[in-house]
Amino acid sequence: MKSVEQYRNQKVLVLGLAKSGVNAARLLHKLGAFVTVNDKKDFDNNPDAQELLSEGIKVITGGHPLSLLDEDFKIVVKNPGIPYSNPIVSGALAKGIPVITEVELASQILEGELIGVTGTNGKTTTTTMITMMLNRRENAGKAYVAGNIGVPASAVAQKAGANDTMVTELSSFMLCGIDQLHPHIAVITNIYSTHLDWHGNRANYVKAKMRITMNQTADDYLVINWDSDEWRQLSTQSRAQVVPFSRQDNSRAGAYELDGKLYFKDEYIMDAKEIKVPGDHNVENALAAIAVAKIKGVSTAGIKQVLKTFSGVRHRTQYVETYEGRQFYNDSKATNLVSTEMALRGFDQPVVLLAGGLDRGNTFEKMAPALKEHVKTLIVFGETAQKVADAGKLAGIDDIVFTENCETAVPIAWEHSTAGNIIMLSPACASWDQYPNFEIRGDRYIKAIEKLTGKAEEN
Ligand code: ADP
Repeated sequence: MKSVEQYRNQKVLVLGLAKSGVNAARLLHKLGAFVTVNDKKDFDNNPDAQELLSEGIKVITGGHPLSLLDEDFKIVVKNPGIPYSNPIVSGALAKGIPVITEVELASQILEGELIGVTGTNGKTTTTTMITMMLNRRENAGKAYVAGNIGVPASAVAQKAGANDTMVTELSSFMLCGIDQLHPHIAVITNIYSTHLDWHGNRANYVKAKMRITMNQTADDYLVINWDSDEWRQLSTQSRAQVVPFSRQDNSRAGAYELDGKLYFKDEYIMDAKEIKVPGDHNVENALAAIAVAKIKGVSTAGIKQVLKTFSGVRHRTQYVETYEGRQFYNDSKATNLVSTEMALRGFDQPVVLLAGGLDRGNTFEKMAPALKEHVKTLIVFGETAQKVADAGKLAGIDDIVFTENCETAVPIAWEHSTAGNIIMLSPACASWDQYPNFEIRGDRYIKAIEKLTGKAEEN
């Protein structure tokens, strides 16, 4: 960890706790700052705040009082989910106080190298693949995953040494709060239209994603999906060396697929079908990871070994089990339409699809072709049940069932399936209408499968 003096004896505000806020507060405390933490949740129901208080950090809970801004803060570190319209955030900015996210802080103390991964979909998968590949190198430092993947970057940055690499998943919300963060390799997996409720419009969303490259120089690399004209065009905004990855273009500039084979520049790496995780989207993720691994000198054998054995990250088209000929998959992380379409395209067998969730105001007609091609039974639930069912009807699916949630959907899916079918939760929606997060939704789905197959204890 670099020794950073700029926060010593300075007042700083950490806005919003959760994992990243707790870590940011602890780090700033360690760096000698006078830390105030402000969290909406009441103190009595806020174990994080209680713990920080016991460590000597000032905590203000139960709301965001504007009087906080009377203090002379040097910076505000805000939770990425708190919008810029929040009065404390806009108030701080109006007073000229920099508002950053925790990843910026982490990058300031990181001694090792930073690799950043952003994009609408595939971030966690690609981040994981890259990290596994880098750890195949001999006589090299260790690679760590960090960021949006669920491991606070400020905690990783404290333990990573000068030879280590922090492979950081960066959401657009995090990128809005960076200043000097400077990845040596930045990866953009793709940019689709989601999160527009938060960013207001596509232009803002794209702008947020492109911040990943804003501090890069000609010594750095931008690994970017080459399969859309818009994304190619965006790459011209970067000062870094562009390394494309593509399933369509084989100009040999970077990583690409040609006739089912994967290459990096002139070198054949492996056949696409040897990749263990299913679906074309995972071929894209693998190509992005190959590009990074090759820039960092990972051997082809090391790359192959990872892609042949990596069976996916939990909740991302995760294989659960096979029971009486039906294969169960948990794709709870598919919180938008594109993810679900991609997941469906990964299968040749008929799919019993479990979908629905939080209503963000969009419709699902665009999903109809993928539904038509892959889905035999559609089981819908949550706020968007009717909208997803409408897309199913448009796709000509006869067997559409409404149910309570993804757990009650499991026995129904069973009744409507036959041997050889795929049963998959891939909701195309966020979970917050019925579950605290997508992980809990996926875990409950798996529990329901275990109950069905007799593994769970009755209680
Ligand atoms: P993220 O971290 O960006 O949300 P994940 O790797 O967690 O991405 O994958 C989330 C879901 O998105 C997966 O379950 C899969 O359905 C879909 N997905 C993964 N990679 C891609 C991709 N490259 N393009 C489109 N969809 C993808």
